[in-house]
Formats: sequence, C-alpha cells, structure tokens
Amino acid sequence: MKPVSEIYGQLAGPARKVVITMHQKPDADAMGSSLGLANFLIQFGHQVTVISPTNWARWLNWMPGCDAVLNYEAEKEKASAALDEAEWLFCLDFNIFYRTKTMADHLKAMNCVKVLIDHHQEPDAPSFDYGVSDTRKSSTCEMVFDLITASGHGDKITLQVAECLYAGVVTDTGSFRFASVTEGVHRMVADLKAKGLDHATVHDNLFNNFLENRLRFIGHVLLHRMEIFYEFNTALIAITKADLLRYQVKTGDTDGLVNFPQSIQGIKLVALVIDRDEERKWSFRSKGDFDCNTFARKYFNGGGHYNAAGGHSKESLNDTVGRFKEVMRENYDLLQ
Ligand code: 5GP
Ligand code: MN
Repeated sequence: MKPVSEIYGQLAGPARKVVITMHQKPDADAMGSSLGLANFLIQFGHQVTVISPTNWARWLNWMPGCDAVLNYEAEKEKASAALDEAEWLFCLDFNIFYRTKTMADHLKAMNCVKVLIDHHQEPDAPSFDYGVSDTRKSSTCEMVFDLITASGHGDKITLQVAECLYAGVVTDTGSFRFASVTEGVHRMVADLKAKGLDHATVHDNLFNNFLENRLRFIGHVLLHRMEIFYEFNTALIAITKADLLRYQVKTGDTDGLVNFPQSIQGIKLVALVIDRDEERKWSFRSKGDFDCNTFARKYFNGGGHYNAAGGHSKESLNDTVGRFKEVMRENYDLLQ
C-alpha cells in the first residue's frame, strides 16, 4: 500500500467514477467520513456513489447526502453496477474486507484502484493500492479532514462536509473525552466552526433523536442483563433475541450500551454480546492497560482498537457467554 498522499494530485481531476464504502452497520464515523469525502469529491465533478454494506441507524439520515447512499443488501443490483464501473474505491473506517459482510467477495474481486483510510489496528494493507492507516487518529473523519487539508483543498470544506466530519469525530471520541483527542482534533473542530458548523444541532441529531423504546430497552438491560464480576473487574451484558423483539430494537439502538458499565468504579473490562440472527456479536471496552484488540482477536474472531474492540461467534448465546466466562478467568492477572 503506497501513501495516500500519492493520489492528492489527482483529487481535483480528471473526473472519475468513484465508490466510497464503509463497514457493515455503519456508525456515525463510518457514515460521516464516507459522506464527508463524497461531498468533497463531487465538487471536482467526480461521479461518486456511497455504498453501505447493510442498513444503518435512522438517526444518521440527517447527514447531507445520506438519502443517496445505497444499501448493498437491499439494493444489490444498483450497488453492484456502481462497484463494477468504479475507477476508484475508497474504503473508510474498516481495514479488512470481511467487515463489509456479503459485499466482501465483490470488493476483493474488483481490480480498480483501492484506497484505504482507517484508524483500526492490523490493516490488510496488501489488499489496497494506496492508503493511510493510523491508530493514533481519533476517527476516520479526522483522517478525511487531514486528507482534504493536506492536499491543499481546505477551501472545499463546505458546511455539508463539516457536518458529516463533525458527526464522526464527536461520536468516536465519546464527545471529546477519550485519550485519542489531541490538540489537532480541537483545531479541526475550530476550523469546522469557522466554516459555519452548528455543532449543537449535530448533537441533537445524534444524541437526542431516539424513540422511547430505546430508553426502556436500556433500563431493562441494565436491570436484568448486566452481571458484575468484581474479582475480575469485569462487567458482562448478554442480550437475548427475546429482548430485541420485546423492545423492537432497531439497527443502532444498542450503540453505546457497552459504555454504561464503564461508569462503575473499578471496572476494567466491559463485554456485551447480542444474539443476532446470523451470529453472536461481541463488543469489548476496557480502561487502562487491558488490550481489547488482542482479546477480541484471540478468543472472538475480531479486533479493533486497544480499548475498544468487537468480535463474533457462531456458538449459541449460552455457549459463547460460557466461553467468555472461561477466558475471563484465564485472563485474571491481566484484569487486575
Ligand atoms: P463496536 O463494539 O462498537 O461494534 O466496535 C468497536 C471497535 O471494534 C470498532 O472500532 C470496530 O470497528 C471494531 N470491531 C467491531 N467488531 C469487529 C470485528 O468483528 N472484527 C474486527 N476486526 N473489528 C471489529
Ligand atoms: Mn471510527
């Protein structure tokens, strides 16, 4: 993978057919960085199609350009046609094709120019022609901002671009509280403000835009589904299919749930598992020196960042929860 700076000279043209894609069930960073980049590139006449591998949370729909995003699972023909025609493929906020689920084989088979922009660990670099992979970055949105400014096109940061990029940086930094927040992140936000960004409205769109059932669901989960293992400084939440049905949980409704137990004094590791149709989906969050990325990779077919990672299992909910409790015991020393 060559440095992404080698394509800076081609951003302004000639016009190309471009596809931008992101990880499955995109969060605000995946969708925001993709739409931020799209709103930037269309200003040079590129023909840009944004494709999500799956559906996404309804509270991302306010993002400028979101109404034109294709859902690969639901609009396979249209999305496939765009992929087949693409001259440039940008892959944002993921670094290995399997994170695009059923779209992965199509992406692998394409032989256009593939560009990676991502901040997760252990990228599959040989699969990309150009790219930037930097785990120190707060968000992929920050990296798109860097690309736009470093390529000398800062004047193309319109209000639309600014809104998309702000959404990803505010969510991926836990509203500017995580260690990943640098001076550069605050400078970026100052820059977006100077472009006219109304950050309060973006916050409202992202955080005050849920339905009643989601709050009731969270109440139910915290009361009935959370186990605390003080000896291991670990909290575990296991959500059953019946819970998802009873509260009509939709895509995105479980985002952020894994952060709640972190507010309990002494908790070092939080694990959340959801009994989805196709798999049991794990999320891990840690404080301090417990490496979630290694843990997720070693035991749950996953990965991510040092303090936030995910994984999945084909076992039943009971079995995978049992396995978690076993490996928690194995990791006793690391959890002290
Ligand atoms: P979340 O718990 O929010 O789904 O994911 C936390 C972090 O881990 C995210 O940065 C996400 O990209 C990464 N992640 C989640 N699930 C997986 C997975 O199955 N494999 C890998 N490699 N990373 C994951
Ligand atoms: Mn991200």
